[in-house]
Amino acid sequence: MRPNHNVVWSRCLEIIKDNIPQTSFKTWFEPIIPKKIENNILTIQVPSLFFYEYLEEQFIDLLGKTLKKVMGDKAKLEYNVVMDTTHVNNKPTTINVPTNNKTDLRNRPVSLPANKERPTIRNPFVIPGIKKLNVDPQLNSAYSFENFVEGACNRLAKSAGSAVADNPGKTAFNPLFIYGNSGLGKTHLGQAIGIEIKKNKPEKTVLYVNANKFETQYSEATRNNNRNDFLNFYQMIDVLIIDDIHELAGKTGTQNIFFHIFNHLHQSGKQLILTSDKAPVELTGLEDRLLSRFKWGLSAELTMPDFDTRVEILKKKIYNDGITMPDDVIFYIANNVVNNIRELEGALVSLLAHATLNKEEITFDTAKSVVDKLVKKERKEISVDYISKKVCEYYGLEMEVLQSRSRKREIVQARQIAMFFSKSLTNSSLATIGAKIGKKDHATVLHACKTINNLIETDRELKHQIKEIETQLKF
Ligand code: ADP
Ligand code: MG
Repeated sequence: MRPNHNVVWSRCLEIIKDNIPQTSFKTWFEPIIPKKIENNILTIQVPSLFFYEYLEEQFIDLLGKTLKKVMGDKAKLEYNVVMDTTHVNNKPTTINVPTNNKTDLRNRPVSLPANKERPTIRNPFVIPGIKKLNVDPQLNSAYSFENFVEGACNRLAKSAGSAVADNPGKTAFNPLFIYGNSGLGKTHLGQAIGIEIKKNKPEKTVLYVNANKFETQYSEATRNNNRNDFLNFYQMIDVLIIDDIHELAGKTGTQNIFFHIFNHLHQSGKQLILTSDKAPVELTGLEDRLLSRFKWGLSAELTMPDFDTRVEILKKKIYNDGITMPDDVIFYIANNVVNNIRELEGALVSLLAHATLNKEEITFDTAKSVVDKLVKKERKEISVDYISKKVCEYYGLEMEVLQSRSRKREIVQARQIAMFFSKSLTNSSLATIGAKIGKKDHATVLHACKTINNLIETDRELKHQIKEIETQLKF
């Protein structure tokens, strides 16, 4: 009997997993659902057209080779793309996409069911003949792609943003809807797309505008009786970036005019980039006809970066500012400021200001006192168990090995380090510490503390490790 699609796909996944970074695997391969095999054609289902395009661009070689390996030389791949057609009917539709027919496919998004339903808008306001518009795009060069650190937290939005920047109005991501909590990079990313487009296609009319400003302009236009000029102006933009679109909640007049602008631009193949603090489905106070349009393209969320990405963001900023800072200071900030990137940068700025004003060097202790004041800390109870856990995490060991009878050098040393920190950071007695770490007696703990103290004097590598563990323990 031939293996079914699930078996075949899981064999493929095993191979793919070994060949690409884990985060890429998670982002791009885990969401794929194998659907069927017929006549040597494996059909897989992907969540969006963007997904399909990205797979084809980045992984087609790997996919091809893997498939041949698992299914033989005649293997073919077909994609089912799930479309968001909620505003047409409630059932997702799929289109079949053969892999070997790339160019043909790139044009398909144009005829997606989602777009068919668009009403034709005859616009009485557009003045024929006005082509060239000189518009200040309102972009801030600091918010470039070069300054935008990529991580799992923003990968989808960033990739879609780059695709849009390369081909404004010509991808399936129109509008590109970027959402996430405050301080996670929506404005930065929206601006980066604008900057990139201006750089490569200076003839394009790009405009960044905040939704509040848009609404103020509109109110003024209404007051001064030149709504038409307002509408004309916006309808001639090639790439419109509206930041914080949620601010239009409850403002029906502005929503109405935006609706017309949106339709006009979208229909003329112009690019829209919208940002919001919530996903389209969660936005309240906005008309359904707008919300349904927001779902035409791609919605991508920004979330809080993980520790490594936070470190990288700090390092980039420090480098751009032309300063240097010890690693333990950077780690301390990254460990403590975890809610948003704006606060992360704020901590850095406060620290610099503090050091400059007091003519002090930036040390771990100054960093600690400045950052602790900024961040309301839930003081973590440092216990022997917590220390054991952190030490094991640091060395990539399972917690149980500390309790085992193993005399392996690295395990003995991890045990000793856990004992050393338990002695210096908790009030537990030597006997208690010994009992909790490997069922040893108090003399063993004492010996461990002495050993580590000696090693710190002589072994630079170990000293460095101890410092890093200490930073992590104290966050
Ligand atoms: P939002 O608009 O979501 O509230 P911003 O775009 O204003 O957030 O970002 C807040 C700050 O964090 C800005 O200074 C921005 O440059 C910085 N920032 C956000 N995301 C990143 C990133 N991925 N890499 C580097 N800096 C970032
Ligand atoms: Mg913003």
